[in-house]
Amino acid sequence: MAKVLILGGGFGGVIAAERLAEQLGDEHQITLVSRSRNFVFYPSLVKVAFGRCEAKDVSFDLRHAMLDRRVNFIEAEVARIDPIERKVAIAHGEIEGNISYDYLIFALGRRLATERITGFYEHAHHLLNLDKALKFGKAISNFHKGRAVIGQCAGTRLPVPVYETAFALARLLKERGERDQVRITVVSPGEFASEFEDRDAAIALEKAFAAQQIEFLPNFPIETVTQNSVLTRSGQAINHDLLMLLPPFRGSSAASYLGLTNDEGYLNVDWTMRVTGHKQIYAVGDCVNFTGPKMGHMATRQGEVAAMNLAAEIEGHEPVSHYSHELKLVIDEAGNDTIYLQKDIWNESPATIKRGRFWSWAKRAQKEYWQLSHA
Ligand SMILES: Cc1cc2nc3c(=O)[nH]c(=O)nc-3n(C[C@H](O)[C@H](O)[C@H](O)COP(=O)(O)OP(=O)(O)OC[C@H]3O[C@@H](n4cnc5c(N)ncnc54)[C@H](O)[C@@H]3O)c2cc1C
Repeated sequence: MAKVLILGGGFGGVIAAERLAEQLGDEHQITLVSRSRNFVFYPSLVKVAFGRCEAKDVSFDLRHAMLDRRVNFIEAEVARIDPIERKVAIAHGEIEGNISYDYLIFALGRRLATERITGFYEHAHHLLNLDKALKFGKAISNFHKGRAVIGQCAGTRLPVPVYETAFALARLLKERGERDQVRITVVSPGEFASEFEDRDAAIALEKAFAAQQIEFLPNFPIETVTQNSVLTRSGQAINHDLLMLLPPFRGSSAASYLGLTNDEGYLNVDWTMRVTGHKQIYAVGDCVNFTGPKMGHMATRQGEVAAMNLAAEIEGHEPVSHYSHELKLVIDEAGNDTIYLQKDIWNESPATIKRGRFWSWAKRAQKEYWQLSHA
């Protein structure tokens, strides 16, 4: 019998657990540990903030969903992994102490490095979890005039909710008849849409921004936030009356200082999703050291690849599946200008860009699929 331990109940961990349960016989034990029993469909948090969707519509009960798939679920906080002794230290939760494993899938996502931006905690809104999205929603309700600044810091690696927030705010203000009273500025540490490394993507977004009178401020790496302004290291500053800022991301601290990660704490893996130099440990999702934005569909695909290869490893076979790093996303909330982008990152081929309301529907359908298949 093999003991398989999966850390993290997000896109990567849940898919890995489900695929393993399908592939492994009953003699093997699969356990998933996560700090919360709720799975949250993050791509809908912008809709939650803007009151277009309720909190209950974007989450489901993991324990229940995992039970149906004969996966043990433990609600607990992971402190550290020990790859030599093959055990995981649990800080607190339903159990305490160590859990041993034969095979590990690390899927703890990213850490929000808010400490790198002075004043972030006190003065910035973000929407990277349900509570913060609801709090930002309250601030939007009370905001009627002035300047809204929306952006990401250097190292955020998540452009979609920034663009979606700008479009959603423009639309809401228009509906309220207040669009003329608000200046919307999107700030970025780099050039326009530089995170997609694609000229056509930048042009499509630029057009959509122009249509909504949203201004874009490039090369503005925010280092300090105050009650009314954001500042770069070189002293450039702009004022804000409403601020939604995504902080820098880093890898999960549960794997840091073990020689398994790059300088930002992301786990080094190969194309099979195995952690470099460590048989029996796989990593998937936002926690891995791959270039480009960090997205849910990547975590999902990586979870599938890791599960297939881990099942093969248990049976004594070579890896059977290779991951290919592809970007696929929908920038919603822009009405007819909603953008779909698909790009093979490792091959550096040009992106496929499509526009139109259909993509908004497609994104909604994906959320419904996740929810229905785990009800
Ligand atoms: C607002 C927003 C909008 C987004 N929009 C899109 C989009 O349109 N399209 C898209 O593809 N992607 C989008 N993403 C990105 C996508 O959600 C992430 O890439 C995806 O969630 C990564 O999956 P993951 O499993 O690696 O990590 P996560 O989903 O973050 O899951 C990590 C899990 O580990 C748990 N965990 C973390 N640390 C610990 C610990 N120490 N102990 C125990 N448990 C722990 C967490 O509670 C969580 O369950 C969006 C994200 C956000 C926040």
